[in-house]
Amino acid sequence: MSIEISKIVQALEPSATLAMAAKAKALKAAGKTVYDFSVGEPDFDTPEHICQAAVRAMQSGHTHYTVASGIPELKQAIVADYARRHGLDYKPNQVVISNGAKHSLHNVFTVLLNPGDEVIIPAPYWVSYAELVKLTGAKPVILQTAEAADFKLTPTALAAAITPRSKVLLLCSPSNPTGSMYSPQELGALADVVLKHNLIVVADEIYERLTYGNHRFASFATVRPGLVERTILVNGVSKTYAMTGWRIGWTMSPANVATAMGDLQSQETSNPSSVSQYAAVAALEGPQQCVADMLGEFAKRRDYVKKRIAELPGVTCPDMAGAFYAFMNIGKHLGRTYGGAKVTNSTEWCLALLEQHNVATVMGSSFGAEGYARVSFATGLPVLEAGFNRIAAFLKSAT
Ligand code: PMP
Ligand code: GLU
Repeated sequence: MSIEISKIVQALEPSATLAMAAKAKALKAAGKTVYDFSVGEPDFDTPEHICQAAVRAMQSGHTHYTVASGIPELKQAIVADYARRHGLDYKPNQVVISNGAKHSLHNVFTVLLNPGDEVIIPAPYWVSYAELVKLTGAKPVILQTAEAADFKLTPTALAAAITPRSKVLLLCSPSNPTGSMYSPQELGALADVVLKHNLIVVADEIYERLTYGNHRFASFATVRPGLVERTILVNGVSKTYAMTGWRIGWTMSPANVATAMGDLQSQETSNPSSVSQYAAVAALEGPQQCVADMLGEFAKRRDYVKKRIAELPGVTCPDMAGAFYAFMNIGKHLGRTYGGAKVTNSTEWCLALLEQHNVATVMGSSFGAEGYARVSFATGLPVLEAGFNRIAAFLKSAT
């Protein structure tokens, strides 16, 4: 007998970022040297003082269930952090701590959406958004943006996409996968449309602390009065503090939404790991030099990757204002033959690059942008150097 999977899960695309990372790991396990630019995960160890806080939490008995929506100390640390850095006045009962920001997003969509509701998602988008929306029976409405406009949604395009079923606009800034970031003015212009049409905004700000050069981040909730009431902020410790494995993310939202998410989570997963929550308190309240140090390293890598991409013939890439991704336009290199294999789309290109040169990237199609490939530069300079040498050789090999 073959057990039938539910229709809703049959329609689910597995995460392409994690799938490419798994392929890279399998090659490594088979003894190959792999240049892994697939997954967006800092290569740094979690800072020592954070690990020590986790050890102390374990040793002092914080090994039991906590309140399902998270410990008061962490909620307080999060609101204090947003108050200090963004001047936002959230209360702890507006915060829900979950098992990573991906889980937070799942909770948000589950409590907000009814079947048939529309969620506007600008493309290129992070691989999980549309799939998490579809799990609720709601409809992702994908809006293409232009590379020439740094992949930013314009107020005109947003207004034109709104229908009576539109409920949520999803914004990710700085962006995974493009690295572009909206200026406060650009966010303000989008906010005017949001306010006029009574939309809710889910603002994924998980890369807010990773910005480069003169680019300054603004939290969406701050750019116009009246946005706090209609915004759900999503954030977490994974990227800022190199804590991907600890699985702590959170939302800040109107209190009734937070209560609904806490209730959902109480039936779904209960609390996120108690030990990880105490570690996250130490991350937010402890010394912040580690963030500056990691950012300094990311900035060097970003400059290096920009230079290397500029040297690749026929490849373009928008400026990376934040996050740790480069989104390369490889369109000119499709329709060619690599090592005997005809490559017609971004999936085939990324797979050929992995198989022939052991460099792992992620196909643009999984981010809703065919003709592109994403490079995560959350990895050391020597690996980037060797990997880009191989990408250059791969392009050169094409006929
Ligand atoms: N949002 C974006 C844009 C991301 O890139 C990620 C990366 N995993 C997440 C949310 C989820 O992060 P996590 O679940 O590790 O907190
Ligand atoms: N967000 C990271 C990425 O895009 C981590 C993997 C994932 O959760 O998708 O690579």
